Amino acid sequence: MVDFLIVGQGIAGSVLALQLLKHNQRILVINNRKKNIASSVAAGIYNPITGRGMVKTWLAEALFPYLTAFYQEASQALGTQFLHPMPIFRPFLTHQERTEWLSKSKQDNYSHFVESVVGRMFHQEHMVLPYGGIILNQSGYLDVRGFLKATRTYLKAQHAYLEADFVYDQLCLDQHIAYQDIAVRQVIFCEGPQVRHNPFFNTLPFRPVKGELISVSVHQPLDVIYNRRIFVLPQTAHEAIVGATYNWQDTSLSPTAHARKILEEKLCSTFNLSYAVYDQQVGIRPATFDRRPFIGIHPQYPQLAIFNGLGTKGVSLAPYFAKIFVEHLLLQKELPQEIQLSRVGFGKNV
Ligand SMILES: Cc1cc2nc3c(=O)[nH]c(=O)nc-3n(C[C@H](O)[C@H](O)[C@H](O)COP(=O)(O)OP(=O)(O)OC[C@H]3O[C@@H](n4cnc5c(N)ncnc54)[C@H](O)[C@@H]3O)c2cc1C
Repeated sequence: MVDFLIVGQGIAGSVLALQLLKHNQRILVINNRKKNIASSVAAGIYNPITGRGMVKTWLAEALFPYLTAFYQEASQALGTQFLHPMPIFRPFLTHQERTEWLSKSKQDNYSHFVESVVGRMFHQEHMVLPYGGIILNQSGYLDVRGFLKATRTYLKAQHAYLEADFVYDQLCLDQHIAYQDIAVRQVIFCEGPQVRHNPFFNTLPFRPVKGELISVSVHQPLDVIYNRRIFVLPQTAHEAIVGATYNWQDTSLSPTAHARKILEEKLCSTFNLSYAVYDQQVGIRPATFDRRPFIGIHPQYPQLAIFNGLGTKGVSLAPYFAKIFVEHLLLQKELPQEIQLSRVGFGKNV
């Protein structure tokens, strides 16, 4: 008998599994380890000031202190270091933006995310930056592949991991729920974009978005994450990841010459870098129509639940939302309206 059977071990399933284990729950994770899943492609950046307009990300005050504590604690439990705090540099595009940020960076609601406002001399040797920019803190990246691998090893050691396809029609939803011959209290689906095959939740309005990245070797070492129009994430002294594209029409998993061209054009227009592309990666983000996750229990089948829709920000959203979801599952605390399935009338016509 397990308390929770989790389907999927991307960022969502991994973080949720660790949160449930902290509450001494008996869990089993079933994961088919498909190639090119979003989590194994993700750059892993967590950034409190995002988007073209450089606005504070949704729930930043709650998400960012918590994610650091969560991944650091997980690093200790799993015996691997996968969280890499690092400043993010966001250049200004206009003089007006610079003026606005000089005052904004001193406001209480922004000051703890802004390390400093810098002038045009900053990194001028390899960037074209007439207006300078801001250096953010509470930012960095998670080595997502390292995190997934360490979590898998940890789960295996506890006999809590099964590498297999979850087959939906082998789920028995009688009074006592079972999957194959495993008695289960509740099944939580964390399948990312593969939710489209899930007969219980595939009517939720997901809006998957394809993303591509390129890996480049560079001659000059970079010591910040650069982020405006594209991101450049240093991996080693002479390697970086450049991303990412957004494509809502093409959801195939093939890399495209078009995406590579866009990324290279943006890279060249901002950097004086000599680089060589040596890899290109593709994944599909499990985004939703309103950019908020889908988290909750199925209205008709209370034995089934979903933790999905982390979109473009799995690294920063997963720890906090897994925490409040576990409190909902175990202590019946109410979930915020913004993430509830009922916001789309889900289940009313099932
Ligand atoms: C190019 C790109 C760059 C990105 N960069 C960032 C970034 O810098 N920072 C950030 O925070 N986010 C980033 N993201 C977004 C991030 O990848 C996602 O938010 C996150 O990975 C979603 O995780 P998930 O666990 O919900 O889904 P997934 O990663 O898709 O994982 C789902 C898992 O479930 C398994 N599964 C599905 N169905 C079944 C089944 N029936 N049986 C068994 N197993 C099953 C899959 O094999 C997989 O292992 C990026 C995404 C892309 C594509």
